[in-house]
Amino acid sequence: MEIGVLRRDGRTDPFFDGTAAGRLVVRRCEACDRWFAPDASGCPGCGEEDLGWAEASGAATLVTWTILPKEPPAFLALVELAEGPWLHARLDGVERADLREGLALRAAFEHPDEGESYVLFRPWTERGSVR
Ligand SMILES: [Zn+2]
Repeated sequence: MEIGVLRRDGRTDPFFDGTAAGRLVVRRCEACDRWFAPDASGCPGCGEEDLGWAEASGAATLVTWTILPKEPPAFLALVELAEGPWLHARLDGVERADLREGLALRAAFEHPDEGESYVLFRPWTERGSVR
């Protein structure tokens, strides 16, 4: 499934270095013990403008989604990481009937031939990945 070629913009280098290594790296404010999306520009809690980066667990839940009318259909989702931040990402290994708010997901990584590696999310159960 094609989502286009991703290029890094300098600000997001740690995020893409993470996805290349199969790690979900997002913004974190150490002072407040709060996590933020990779594109966050500062901490609203303490005003820190230079947020750090830290590896998230990869666990997430489905918040909302859009189905792109393609064949096969593409699923674009807004997911909530276990650490709190929300991320836009593609879903993989899902069927239309699987989709519900709160669906347990786990990060997975795609490494296209061209462009940056990126994160997508697959359904997750206690026994492991569904597919
Ligand atoms: Zn803070």
